[in-house]
Amino acid sequence: MSLKIQTHSSPNHDARRQKLSHIILHYTDMETPQAALRRLCDPAAKVSAHYLLHADGQIVQMVEESRRAWHAGVSSWQGESDMNSSSIGIELDHKGCDAQGHMAAFPEAQRQSLYALLGDIIERHGLDPRQVIGHSDIAPGRKTDPGEAFDWAELYAAGFGLWLSDVKLEAVADLPSDAAGEKAIVPLQKALAAFGYGLEVDGVYGQQTRDVVAAFQRHFRATRIDGVADAETQSLIYAYCRASLAKADAG
Ligand SMILES: [Zn+2]
Repeated sequence: MSLKIQTHSSPNHDARRQKLSHIILHYTDMETPQAALRRLCDPAAKVSAHYLLHADGQIVQMVEESRRAWHAGVSSWQGESDMNSSSIGIELDHKGCDAQGHMAAFPEAQRQSLYALLGDIIERHGLDPRQVIGHSDIAPGRKTDPGEAFDWAELYAAGFGLWLSDVKLEAVADLPSDAAGEKAIVPLQKALAAFGYGLEVDGVYGQQTRDVVAAFQRHFRATRIDGVADAETQSLIYAYCRASLAKADAG
């Protein structure tokens, strides 16, 4: 299909220093797409993204894909800390959570537009379609977008990202707990790090581990996001880690 893309250039970009490998999804967290566009093109704001997707599906390109847009900030994924250099950033127009903390679903037209754009980008650059992740994945504890209302399962059904159904749940104790110490925490941290999250394997269930577990939950088990590795969360972390490593071996 041919995509209809408008251009509204942002001055906020520089040269890529890494090979393009990932696509990072965001939401704008602003009242209107016009306000978001102004900010993403404001030289003083020093932020940008390659694309902004309006709620009605309209696609606006702000930065050339060959250039490094400034959307990731301090971040890390699979050992890479210059995520701006290795990714394309897509902003979804969305107001974020309301006063009650509820986040509305992304409209159908916007989602379909996103899937069409992702397909186009991935084909043109020969990217691995699984490498579509969220800002919250690369900046746990700092960023929560695209947020718990983003439908990662539908994204996977459309051919992008990673989603496992029918994961076998292991009966294990919640972490952190007094009973299970370092012995259970280290393998969990190793699995999260192997999957891609930037965290130190230190055997301590401290703030960084809570933040990363919450980021994982926001993406893969959004029904409860509390940073506690309950049995379901642990089972999912190991399953996703295995699935991504199996994929890496095969490729
Ligand atoms: Zn973001």
